[in-house]
Amino acid sequence: MNQQTDTLVIGAGLAGLVTAYELLKKGQRVCIVDAQPREKMGGLAKIAFGGMAIVGTPEQKKKGVKDSPELALKDWYSFAEFSDDDIYPKAWAKHYVEHSLEDVYYYMKALDVSFLPAVNWVERGLFIPGNSVPRYHIIWGCSARLVSQLLAQILPFESDKLQLVFNSTVEELTRENRKITGCKGASQQGKAFEIKAENTVVACGGFTGNIERVKQNWPTDWGKAPEVILNGSHPGNNGVLHDEVARQGGQLTHMQDMWNYAAGIPHPEPEYEGQGLSLIPCKSALWLDHKGRRIGPQPLVTGFDTNYLCQQLSQQEKPYSWQLLNKRIALKEFAISGSEHNPMIRDRRLSGLLKELVFGNHRLFEQMSDKSAEFVVADNLSQLHEKMNSLTADNAVNLDVLTRTINDFDAMVARGKHQWNDDQIRRILHARQWGSDKLRTCYPKPILDGSPLVAIKVNIISRKSLGGIQTNLHSQVLDNANNPLAGLYAVGEAAGFGGGGASGKRSLEGTFLSGCLLTAQQAAKALT
Ligand SMILES: Cc1cc2nc3c(=O)[nH]c(=O)nc-3n(C[C@H](O)[C@H](O)[C@H](O)COP(=O)(O)OP(=O)(O)OC[C@H]3O[C@@H](n4cnc5c(N)ncnc54)[C@H](O)[C@@H]3O)c2cc1C
Repeated sequence: MNQQTDTLVIGAGLAGLVTAYELLKKGQRVCIVDAQPREKMGGLAKIAFGGMAIVGTPEQKKKGVKDSPELALKDWYSFAEFSDDDIYPKAWAKHYVEHSLEDVYYYMKALDVSFLPAVNWVERGLFIPGNSVPRYHIIWGCSARLVSQLLAQILPFESDKLQLVFNSTVEELTRENRKITGCKGASQQGKAFEIKAENTVVACGGFTGNIERVKQNWPTDWGKAPEVILNGSHPGNNGVLHDEVARQGGQLTHMQDMWNYAAGIPHPEPEYEGQGLSLIPCKSALWLDHKGRRIGPQPLVTGFDTNYLCQQLSQQEKPYSWQLLNKRIALKEFAISGSEHNPMIRDRRLSGLLKELVFGNHRLFEQMSDKSAEFVVADNLSQLHEKMNSLTADNAVNLDVLTRTINDFDAMVARGKHQWNDDQIRRILHARQWGSDKLRTCYPKPILDGSPLVAIKVNIISRKSLGGIQTNLHSQVLDNANNPLAGLYAVGEAAGFGGGGASGKRSLEGTFLSGCLLTAQQAAKALT
């Protein structure tokens, strides 16, 4: 197969689709090539949750949140810990906060994609300030809804300007007279292909589906990477095209900066080896080490600094840790990221969603207790201890230690709120001051309250590459002297969501799907 087109887009994920859509609207001929089959169009956005950091929305205003690009940029810079050299990441951060309302929120509204009225307050910061205000918006229908609305616009072009090539892996970029001229690769059947194009856009996603590579890029100041890291991306997101861009002279930056999560469990019905599910850890659960001791001195609580959680867990003696809670807490707080385990939001079933919020998520509790070996449920502490040890087969949890850990916490809680002196409780109370967090966070009560006990064995799980191919604000790929490589662009996660690392060390959360939209739009503007 040999083809000629105006713009070649490598990758049919969200970033690739938005690039293609914008170019098709302007009359260009576009070819999208993807290693996966047609039904996987949308890439990770098809299975993602759909949380987006957006600044200054009507939803925020309705909740009395006063947000502005200036405030968001201040928060972003704080969390990112940029260095003086981060010229392009900083430029992309500024672009994001200044354009998220128009180019993300209203862009999506025009595609008939809306958001839940609740605005969540995530990544508030721990030792480093994060989001000063709630700005995490959830797509009603998850990001799968955005993908399907986009496809409804794009696919009609297939009869004319759009060529779709599936099950075909790009192996190299081609080049003539210092200009990138397309790509070569092979289909799943091993048939070679070449596509020639005026311009090429790399939209291949990140590299965190390649766990060996995640380990190689593990932040050096965190010590050795944990022996076990679950895969929360996709094996096709392997970094092969990052290397190819580098071979062509493009610059890769911030490859050590990744947005992994602290609480993964193996997918009970995996599609590929090592596939994990990322839990939204329960704020009220005690986070314990392999022996059953509470990790500290700073107790680990989600929602403040994900990067800190990963760093702490990566430095534990064993590659796993435990979340200890009870059924009462699990019903209110336990959740799993992604559309698969949030069917009420994905399928836009309002009454089902409200029922789960009010009466607890019995569906997810039953599903995990039935299917996940890591989700251990027991009637009493000695039974729980036995089950925990039989799961790890290392007898590491000591019953006396476990009993003391829980009793110490429960005794403190039982003293009453005027004598509470615990950082986890302080943060729970702070979180509960914000309406949507209150709905999903229990008021502090003892763990041993007669409700069945739950222990969840968790490992670190990979997710997003914050670093990647360095680009300027036109999404042009830059060489080591920061000059654009003629004919080559990079968008979405491949480009570290802009500039090869728009988030720096930490994301304010929900900056990824929007980052795909913004980088794709900029590339398309530059190409037309
Ligand atoms: C479970 C889950 C939940 C998430 N939740 C959120 C969230 O709530 N908010 C948020 O902002 N982000 C979230 N994310 C992250 C977000 O979904 C991704 O960062 C984003 O969708 C990446 O889009 P992309 O187009 O850059 O790359 P991808 O979606 O990874 O698409 C890349 C495409 O390129 C193709 N490809 C790769 N290499 C080749 C090759 N050599 N040849 C041909 N094709 C190739 C792949 O097959 C794939 O289709 C989540 C991710 C997951 C997995």
